[in-house]
Amino acid sequence: MEPSAIPSSPEELAELLHELRLVRRQRKESLRADDRARQSLLAAERSAIFTKTGGRCHICGGTIHGAWQADHVFPHSGGGGHAADNYLPAHALCNNYRWDYTSEEFQHILKLGVWLRTQIERKTPLGLRAAKSFLASETVRESRRKRPQINANPESNHEA
Ligand SMILES: [Zn+2]
Repeated sequence: MEPSAIPSSPEELAELLHELRLVRRQRKESLRADDRARQSLLAAERSAIFTKTGGRCHICGGTIHGAWQADHVFPHSGGGGHAADNYLPAHALCNNYRWDYTSEEFQHILKLGVWLRTQIERKTPLGLRAAKSFLASETVRESRRKRPQINANPESNHEA
């Protein structure tokens, strides 16, 4: 896709991210249908999917050890074909962070993330403030994750 125009103000960036969230919400139901299809993949189909990338996560490029997820990739032609054709292997963590963002929204997230990581590495005042807040948020998230999963909600990770 084409890179989108740079918003002219912080408020415009916030509005754009909000609009993209609304677009994502509208897509959610069809993605839930994909989720049901993914659960029905046969062992042979999962094996074929895993082989496509040589056992690497298609999102981050890292080697997959142990459990992994079959990530649905939207076919360019809209054609059907074999069920395994529309999937690529991914780490559960990568897939859970990526799964319901549109390409445009995900590009903004990548740009923001790359920019912020530089702020943190350079120890700018904003970078250090963001890092402190991020680490506190991660600590809370980790402690929630380690608790027994009584009411597991896979969507809770996406609202942070
Ligand atoms: Zn990954």
